[in-house]
Amino acid sequence: MLADYAVRVEQSRGRRVPEPQHPYRDDFQRDRDRVIHSRAFRRLEAKTQVFTRRFSDHFRNRLTHTIEVAQIARTIAFQLGLNVDLVEALALVHDVGHPPFGHAGEKALDAVMREHGLLFDHNLHALRIVEDFEMRYAAFRGLNLTFEVREGIIKHSHDYSASQFPELAEYLLDHRPPLEAQLIDLADEIAYDTADLDDGYEARLLTLPQIRGGVPVFDRFYCEAEQTYPNAIEKLKFNEALKRVLDRMVGDLIRNLQSQINDARIRNLKDVRACPHRLATFSPEVEEERRSTKEFLYRNLYFSAALDSEKNDAERVIRQLFEFWMAKPESLPQTYWQKAAQEPLPRVVCDYIAGMTDNFIYEQHGKYCGRID
Ligand code: MG
Repeated sequence: MLADYAVRVEQSRGRRVPEPQHPYRDDFQRDRDRVIHSRAFRRLEAKTQVFTRRFSDHFRNRLTHTIEVAQIARTIAFQLGLNVDLVEALALVHDVGHPPFGHAGEKALDAVMREHGLLFDHNLHALRIVEDFEMRYAAFRGLNLTFEVREGIIKHSHDYSASQFPELAEYLLDHRPPLEAQLIDLADEIAYDTADLDDGYEARLLTLPQIRGGVPVFDRFYCEAEQTYPNAIEKLKFNEALKRVLDRMVGDLIRNLQSQINDARIRNLKDVRACPHRLATFSPEVEEERRSTKEFLYRNLYFSAALDSEKNDAERVIRQLFEFWMAKPESLPQTYWQKAAQEPLPRVVCDYIAGMTDNFIYEQHGKYCGRID
């Protein structure tokens, strides 16, 4: 069933701590299941994607976004003969390193870390979660995931240089990641570009004429939906158009990746790794649609004044809590306080904050820093 260029589980580089085989689940299936049963995965439910619950219970949170990415990534992987179990594990784990408050939280945490000459990166944090912070098994710390899942956590969205990140040298930084990891970043973008149009429209931060005027591919499909369903209500025509945008991106990625594989004469995983560029890309036409849709979302939604107060809250809560624990590290939970003996205090505080849900960080802020007006 698997294509010659797919990752084969029997050729996995294995786990840090060797374990006996499971009687009927292979190693990538087990990794997927370990992610699903982790605490970091459950916390995604209470982390902001773009909108907090204050707007509506129907908006995506990081967990439902993750499930959508897994659905899209599985579809693409199956069509191309890639390893669907590995893809599913990578999709389900891809956002576990995100701090509370979505991108505003990530920016705020990175900014306070840079004041101490350090940085915050959600992929690196995800690796720390699965390698160390999850405490579930008696035989080892972390989830003891296979090399291929850990490599995909680091390499799915961009390349890291070995000179800047010597601690990542084992992840073959001068090689491309397998196609299973490469497609996660694009499945992620297909999921959030379409979902953010949907949630933005539902939140009334984006209007239909605005979307039709700013996203030409959506407008084309909306005209089609109007012709096919002239009597349907606006929201259903909206849904029909958005569904077609998503389907167009997925179909294009499958076709374009297949032709990239053929053009580059990729025969096996070694060829994928040695290829000088990533093979998972959209066609130039759809790439242009993706780029302009994203630009539209930045201009009209992510940077919209309506989200400013949430972003300011996020920045203030994170900064004040960070500064509080830097000044009073003895108020950290015992396990984190102990870690400060081996690691720089800003990193320990950052790790603690990054793991929090939106609810929990507000609670902590109320307890240590007083109320937000
Ligand atoms: Mg994501």
